[in-house]
Amino acid sequence: MKFNTKTIHGGQKHDPAYGAVMPPIYQTSTYAQTTPGGHKGFEYSRTHNPTRKALEDSFASIENGKFGLAFGSGLAAIDAVIKLLKPGDEVVSTNDLYGGTYRLFTKIFEDFGIKFHFIGMENADKVEDYVNENTKLIWVETPTNPMMNIIDIKAIAAISKTHNILLAVDNTFATPYLQRPLDLGADIVMHSATKYLGGHSDVVMGALIVKDSTLAERLYFIQNASGAVCGPQDSFLVLRGIKTLHIRMQRHCENGEAIAKYLKNHPKIEKVYWPGFEDHPNHEIAKAQMDGFGGMISFVTKGSDYDSAIKIVENLKFFTLAESLGGVESLAGHPASMTHASIPKEEREKTGVVDSLIRLSVGIEDINDLIADLEQAIG
Ligand SMILES: *Cc1c(COP(=O)(O)O)cnc(C)c1O
Repeated sequence: MKFNTKTIHGGQKHDPAYGAVMPPIYQTSTYAQTTPGGHKGFEYSRTHNPTRKALEDSFASIENGKFGLAFGSGLAAIDAVIKLLKPGDEVVSTNDLYGGTYRLFTKIFEDFGIKFHFIGMENADKVEDYVNENTKLIWVETPTNPMMNIIDIKAIAAISKTHNILLAVDNTFATPYLQRPLDLGADIVMHSATKYLGGHSDVVMGALIVKDSTLAERLYFIQNASGAVCGPQDSFLVLRGIKTLHIRMQRHCENGEAIAKYLKNHPKIEKVYWPGFEDHPNHEIAKAQMDGFGGMISFVTKGSDYDSAIKIVENLKFFTLAESLGGVESLAGHPASMTHASIPKEEREKTGVVDSLIRLSVGIEDINDLIADLEQAIG
């Protein structure tokens, strides 16, 4: 089955009760048993729910995995992955990382005796320097947020295989439409399904996808034992979102490219961060491991400071000033005062998150309206 068919049919069956084409929202916590243990595969909705199961099978299908798991948020999914580890274990992680992931690692799991090394992974060989006998997990996010750095998943998978370490990839920005980490050698794919998979800014959810049955069994155990599951209504919404993932992503990519090029040619723009440009430092890797460059773009205006960047994001009309990304509507953000405000100025400027940096999540509106909006806001 090709990807554009998988988004609609992958792992899906018509509902056995009445043939409903979409899985019903099984809004139930429990299931009648004829005799103790005599049930139809569902006992209690923390453990299993038919609507969630339909979604989990869709997750597995679109990422070319065998097993999918849905959680109450992206961070709940990451939390489950780190619970595979024990005190004394070490993790090598991307440094230009989603802020909430960094907070979970440093403010929760460091206290449980897990050690994290945050490093730039644009040169994959560097990862090997941080690997020792306690290293149990490599955590990769690519493209990174907000600097749009690209990390070579295949090269890092080779290192993880040599040392028998798990490799997890946060695939939120790319989505499986553009990048399939399990095919490139990763063991675990993670999503904030809140973003492109849901696609309509109306739900918070997380996903994990794996191929290995032993790893899946352990993750299902953690999912049930820790209990950070999502409800049936949210499962339905994300399943519906996935059905149009491919056509949304196609338009996100087209609009993203048009806006990246528009900004690059704009006399008032200093720098545009988008992996589709030939002068992007890891453009060749992006071209090899991705089927397109997506709708996430960051840029800096010439001679701009904190206040003028704030003015631009406030003046935008179709780009709503908001946290988050990946919905049908365009959003703009100012990382220094929003998503990355908790990181000290000196630290964030080292990775390029300067006061004048603006991040766009390009939506699927008419491109002429979006460019006109940028034109009036940048001036
Ligand atoms: C939003 C996001 C997360 C966290 O997901 P939530 O659904 O908000 O918990 C993790 N990684 C990336 C790249 C994200 O954009």
